[in-house]
Amino acid sequence: MAADSRGSRLRSDDCLTERLYYTDSYLHEFEARVVAVSGATVTLDRSAFYPTSGGQVFDTGWLEANGSVRVRVKDVAEDEQTGDVQHIVEGDAQALSPGSVVRGTIDAERRLDHMQQHSGQHVLSAAFEKLYGFPTVSFHMGEDSCTIDLATDAISTKQLEAAEALANQVIAEDRPVEIRFATANEARSLGVRKIPPAERQKLRLIEVHDFDLNACGGTHVRSTGQIGCILLRKTEKVRQGLRVEFVCGLRAIRTARRDFETLTEAASVFSTHIWEVPQQVRKSLDEIKSAQKAQHRLLEEVAELQAQQMLQSAPERGAHKLVVQFFAERNLGFIKMLAQKLTKSGTAVALLGCGGPQPSLVFAQTPGLANDMGALMKQIVQQLGTRGGGNRDMAQGGAPDSARAEHALQQAASVIG
Ligand SMILES: [Zn+2]
Repeated sequence: MAADSRGSRLRSDDCLTERLYYTDSYLHEFEARVVAVSGATVTLDRSAFYPTSGGQVFDTGWLEANGSVRVRVKDVAEDEQTGDVQHIVEGDAQALSPGSVVRGTIDAERRLDHMQQHSGQHVLSAAFEKLYGFPTVSFHMGEDSCTIDLATDAISTKQLEAAEALANQVIAEDRPVEIRFATANEARSLGVRKIPPAERQKLRLIEVHDFDLNACGGTHVRSTGQIGCILLRKTEKVRQGLRVEFVCGLRAIRTARRDFETLTEAASVFSTHIWEVPQQVRKSLDEIKSAQKAQHRLLEEVAELQAQQMLQSAPERGAHKLVVQFFAERNLGFIKMLAQKLTKSGTAVALLGCGGPQPSLVFAQTPGLANDMGALMKQIVQQLGTRGGGNRDMAQGGAPDSARAEHALQQAASVIG
């Protein structure tokens, strides 16, 4: 088929796809007539497939014809101009000829999940509104979790817990969820939570018995018990207010299971109960901090002693001592400490190097001596092809490996003379 082919239409553009899910969210199989096929996009005269809109994501499923053609519906969208439902398929879309009858089948598990999330959102939004007067300004359904944005700057943990508890109580009461149609004026007089700005002849209302009434085009459960449960997750500040992450139904179970496994793993590392994990983590961090402090103190002492010994055995160079030494097992932090001690305890020039994962060089002199350590380091690192520098009395730089770091020390020593 040529790319510019729009296919043929069997009816006028003002006749929209009849949305079967408007009145029955549990309809998983249906028959329809093909109206148009354009590329991979199939338009039907009626459909139970939900197109991405109003925060809810699309259904997936199959379209079959003549018992021989079967194509996968991988995405469903709303045509913004015509309002038609567009089925984007994988496979031979052209085999579905306009005018022919197709059988549509919706992936039931995915649909149920979306119904649980969306009905759960209505209950949760109503709970925040009833308890604290926080209106919901937007809803997003993701692959793993859902979010609502509340028009408020702040929310306390207590408020989150209370809204979660009320929402779950409404779920446990298994209240009927009904679909109603009304004009905007009727909806207003009924006290609908949020009237959409677009003026339509009839609004579709979703009523959670004695708890919430809201205009919505989504797919919903028959009674709140089918939502299963609501689990609130993290919150974060966003431009339009406060974002609350949540999961409902079987997703909540999967999420809680994953959380539990993560906590169990952490608890086994600490050989403790999962409830003790935060306390154990804090304790371990405190222990690490004090061990680091103790180690630093010991290294200072070692450096002090080593500096004394090195100064005693180092050769005199006129008025100062010259210390040249490479430490295969020490790091930059230690040789810097050592250089400071050497140049403070006596009058000395210290040319030190270390190996390890980050081979480094430190050149230092007692302030007042005539050399320029920064310039010397620049000269050495230029030859090594690494980076480094410093001031007259103290400089540091990198070396490509231990052997070249050690060799560079001898070179620097010959420059100092
Ligand atoms: Zn809704």
